[in-house]
Amino acid sequence: VGEGGEITYKKIQSSQIMGSIQLGIQHAIGGLASKPERDLLMQDFMTVETTNFPSEGSNHTPAHHYSEFKFKTYAPIAFRYFRDLFGIQPDDFLMSMCSAPLRELSNPGASGSIFYLTNDDEFIIKTVQHKEGEFLQKLLPGYYLNLDQNPRTLLPKFFGLYCYQCNSKNVRLVAMNNLLPSYVKLHQKYDLKGSTYKRKASKTERQKSSPTYKDLDFMEHHTEGIFLEADTYTALIKTMQRDCRVLESFKIMDYSLLVGIHNLDEAQREKTEARKRTDSGQSDDENEGEPKKSGLNRTRLEQAKEDFKTQVKRTQSINRQRLVAHSTAMESIQAESEPIDEEEDVPPGGIPARNARGERLLLFLGIIDILQSYRLRKKLEHTWKSMIHDGDTVSVHRPNFYAQRFLDFMARTVFKKIPSLDLPEIKGNH
Ligand code: ATP
Ligand code: CA
Ligand code: CA
Repeated sequence: VGEGGEITYKKIQSSQIMGSIQLGIQHAIGGLASKPERDLLMQDFMTVETTNFPSEGSNHTPAHHYSEFKFKTYAPIAFRYFRDLFGIQPDDFLMSMCSAPLRELSNPGASGSIFYLTNDDEFIIKTVQHKEGEFLQKLLPGYYLNLDQNPRTLLPKFFGLYCYQCNSKNVRLVAMNNLLPSYVKLHQKYDLKGSTYKRKASKTERQKSSPTYKDLDFMEHHTEGIFLEADTYTALIKTMQRDCRVLESFKIMDYSLLVGIHNLDEAQREKTEARKRTDSGQSDDENEGEPKKSGLNRTRLEQAKEDFKTQVKRTQSINRQRLVAHSTAMESIQAESEPIDEEEDVPPGGIPARNARGERLLLFLGIIDILQSYRLRKKLEHTWKSMIHDGDTVSVHRPNFYAQRFLDFMARTVFKKIPSLDLPEIKGNH
């Protein structure tokens, strides 16, 4: 955060980065239209296209109110191929990326990266370090050999790699799929690695309205883990095993499983609470100070209007198919979606589960932050200490150790297999 509360990255105002990259992406996608679709060639992974964006505009770039900048698009043809693999049409990608302002996510990691979310909830743009950008470039051929063979994966789906250059500063950005729907309330969020070393959400994090908890917090909140039906459990663990094998082959470490939990029963209780409040005449704050006489009627009318609006909004978002194919949690693990409760208006694609109290959950999840390779890793003090703490002294095997521990933790501590979600001892009083 810079002076005056304005968010900055490398001393550039975030709003300027957002606006400029939208111009850059728009230009890049537009330019691709003239290039016919064809098979990928090895050199397509190495291409970099650079465009100048002077403020006054040029023959092929529009005038703008930001500082003059350069925009680099990495491997444009290759990324078009990957977008195609996930059914993303150029027009749709353009609409998502450029037709409305981006939203800045408020819960970035410790690395200082900034995250932008597209207005339609489909894509996330993350700023990455020079090394991470370079690594993704090198990773592309092998990574997508894998995706082509198996698009059902929990690994991040990368849709673009860009560099915004302004005043000799470089801001590298990757576009990827968004795992957590923002139109559903996520009652809990976890970033899990399978390590216990310093894996507890900080005090500042816990004070946020929607904190991201870590491994130790999970073990405290869910001492018995989260219950999945046998088939779902097997599909999930198998997918993670396959994904971890790929990550290990690239010597990748430090990735996490991001898990968002929507608690259907808690949502129900929240709804009932809200209804009770309005029924007993207590209106929401906005009506406070209204004349007493018309107060009650007005409240009812306002409430009816509000209810209608929420209903329309909810139906819109639920009926909308995800733009990116195979991108919901259920599709990623190739499991059939059994409707958890027909009468419930819940978004599709979440993995049905239960907690130890028998409450019905929907899980949204995926593997994130995979651009740290062991070979490129700096010898940080933390790395040393955590290595010793984790009992991993043979550093050559570190990516293997990391993957094993990760899988072990997910398969034993986080997720538990049960024959059915409707067993009386699991279901409780539902
Ligand atoms: P660090 O390296 O310190 O762990 P980072 O800056 O590399 O942090 P990530 O670990 O990639 O950041 O992500 C930080 C947080 O951003 C995650 O815990 C999650 O809340 C959110 N996030 C990251 N990627 C996604 C995604 N694809 N969809 C939804 N949320 C995401
Ligand atoms: Ca991380
Ligand atoms: Ca990181």
